[in-house]
Amino acid sequence: MQAALLLAKQRDLPFFILGKGSNCLFDDGGYDGLVIHNKISFCDFQWPCVTVGAGYSFSLLGVQTARQGWSGLEFASGIPASVGGAVYMNAGANGSETADSLVEVGFVDAEGTFSQLKREELAFSYRTSPFQKRKGAIVSAKFHLIPSDAARTKQLDIVAYRTRSQPYNDPSAGCVFRNPPMYSAGALIEQCGLKGKQIGGAEVSCKHANFIVNRENATARDVLALAEFVKSAVKEQTGIELEMEIRYVPR
Ligand SMILES: Cc1cc2nc3c(=O)[nH]c(=O)nc-3n(C[C@H](O)[C@H](O)[C@H](O)COP(=O)(O)OP(=O)(O)OC[C@H]3O[C@@H](n4cnc5c(N)ncnc54)[C@H](O)[C@@H]3O)c2cc1C
Repeated sequence: MQAALLLAKQRDLPFFILGKGSNCLFDDGGYDGLVIHNKISFCDFQWPCVTVGAGYSFSLLGVQTARQGWSGLEFASGIPASVGGAVYMNAGANGSETADSLVEVGFVDAEGTFSQLKREELAFSYRTSPFQKRKGAIVSAKFHLIPSDAARTKQLDIVAYRTRSQPYNDPSAGCVFRNPPMYSAGALIEQCGLKGKQIGGAEVSCKHANFIVNRENATARDVLALAEFVKSAVKEQTGIELEMEIRYVPR
């Protein structure tokens, strides 16, 4: 990662760190720079802590820790993220979020310098991390977990709920909008009668209204146009302004 970031600096190239891409919408014209696909994938269990490479599967981590009777990351199972992407987005579900059990983060800045950052130095909030304002790459994360006999059951319940309520078999970039304070974005969109609305190949999922699924060769342009349509309709009918959660990556 240090070499890749130094290369970008030497060649004066813009760069984009890609985890599993589950929250990204790339421009139809591609990306005019260096895409660094993070595949740093190690996993070191030293209970009650676990240290993982940022390219490690966040979902697998949730399953493995719960199976071994450790609580804190059950919600991760079923989120198709890398650990780095989850830290960057402060991914969350079922009342928990990534920052809750985080202890430290390994980070390489745009100059190629590595540092180990303690959780206390990092301010997280809903789907927001300080890394969204820093140029560089998360390379590892350490979590502190709590022993629990109920962890595996909780994790299985979370996966079952996900598959029931979200369009897992259709391609999407996850929830399109953040939940506004006190509201569910999906419920607002559904209330506005937008389930099934299509622009080009993009469709508001009939299963969960906060997902736009790629029904038929959707372009990024279709997805953005549909998101804009939904945003305007919700604003007009409810007065509430939705904010995009999907990371649109411009050319
Ligand atoms: C079916 C489905 C269900 C989902 N469910 C949830 C859910 O329940 N809760 C939730 O919060 N999200 C959910 N998501 C959204 C998504 O999985 C999360 O936002 C996740 O954190 C993104 O991780 P990723 O590795 O795919 O990141 P990417 O999509 O690859 O990247 C997202 C952003 O993180 C940055 N990034 C990624 N890795 C690094 C790194 N190592 N260093 C620095 N920056 C990095 C990228 O540059 C980009 O800006 C869902 C998505 C899908 C498709």
